[in-house]
Amino acid sequence: QVLAERHLARLFEALDGQGEEIRIAGGAVRDALLGTVPDEIDLATTALPDEIVRRAEAAGLKPVPTGIEHGTVTVVVDGRPFEVTTLRRDVETDGRHAVVAFGRDWEEDAKRRDFTINGLFLDREGQVHDFIGGKSDIEARRIRFIGDATTRIREDYLRILRFFRFFARYADGDPDEEALHAAIAEREGLLNLSRERIRVELLKTLAARRAADAFDILSETGLFGLVTGGIARLSRLRRLWELEQILGRRPDPVLRLAAVGLFVEDDAERLRERLRLSNEEAGRLRALAGPPFDASGEASSKVLLYRLGAPTYDGRVMLGWIDAGASPMDFAWRDRLTLPERWTAPRFPIGGTDLSRWGVDKGPEMGSLLKALEERWIAAGFPDDMDFGAELARIRG
Ligand code: ATP
Repeated sequence: QVLAERHLARLFEALDGQGEEIRIAGGAVRDALLGTVPDEIDLATTALPDEIVRRAEAAGLKPVPTGIEHGTVTVVVDGRPFEVTTLRRDVETDGRHAVVAFGRDWEEDAKRRDFTINGLFLDREGQVHDFIGGKSDIEARRIRFIGDATTRIREDYLRILRFFRFFARYADGDPDEEALHAAIAEREGLLNLSRERIRVELLKTLAARRAADAFDILSETGLFGLVTGGIARLSRLRRLWELEQILGRRPDPVLRLAAVGLFVEDDAERLRERLRLSNEEAGRLRALAGPPFDASGEASSKVLLYRLGAPTYDGRVMLGWIDAGASPMDFAWRDRLTLPERWTAPRFPIGGTDLSRWGVDKGPEMGSLLKALEERWIAAGFPDDMDFGAELARIRG
């Protein structure tokens, strides 16, 4: 099915044959065997990067040397990019990144990959090349390291977190014992990794089907505390997951991070710093960390929706719902959740120009007066006929 991707034929035409071979590699083969359509198709080849570029150009394709020092050339076929990487073998490692050399041996390339499910190749004829027992692990939905787990983790400690990510996404049953023991024993190695790399893995784990199971283990084994400096609220993550299933929601990793990682508002700042969250992620987390949702009525829900905007409001309602211990069927909470479908928060109708007209000079005072007027307008229930001139006179005494 993955071979039916229409751009691939041109890629194979250009790069396969005449002494070189190219095969689909890694995640795309795994996803194809699981019956899902991969978003990205990466390929591996015996050809050296210069040869990839030469052949791609000769075939009228666009090669972009995106990671030439690692042997990766992105070949664009009619607008669709494919990462094509020369076969590699590990030569040494510093525990943060494996150092590799080019090779021509498919088995060696498979063996330096992390997990058996990620170590398969698929050739142009549809034949799967499995040097490491990946096919049976995919069928059994089992995540195992290729080779000795401890050795593989010591080469690159990020693999501890990658193990939990792939477990959360694909595995059935309990985690592989050997991998789990090695992950626990080697956990201190996580402290040397860049926080960006940790963030990527944790957010991807949170987005996965079995995020709650993976975070149970991350928490029990002390790994969660090690990388986030905090304590996990596991029951909250599990309840969020249940609610998402019942409501038919797609997983939202930042909301799940808020569910598992926030007790008080300060947690948002700590997570931002520890995980180098983007400004957008950190902003959402801070907004989700506010005081418990005031569920007393529609008016207070409207105020919250106005202040937070629909996406964050939605998250706060979900967290409030969980924290209140209400049933996923609870009518009142469902009603709160659907408020954005019934009511669009109005825009505050006045600005600095109006205030200038009423004799207020530009400066800090203007800002605080605008804020005060906005608060009165909110408190009055967002009327569209408020006499702001009169309100202003009242505020200024
Ligand atoms: P996703 O669906 O999240 O993109 P993926 O399997 O494509 O999943 P990537 O992180 O993009 O995951 O990695 C691509 C492939 O490269 C993997 O399937 C694996 O074979 C290999 N790989 C990536 N990172 C490592 C690592 N740290 N150690 C060993 N192999 C790795």
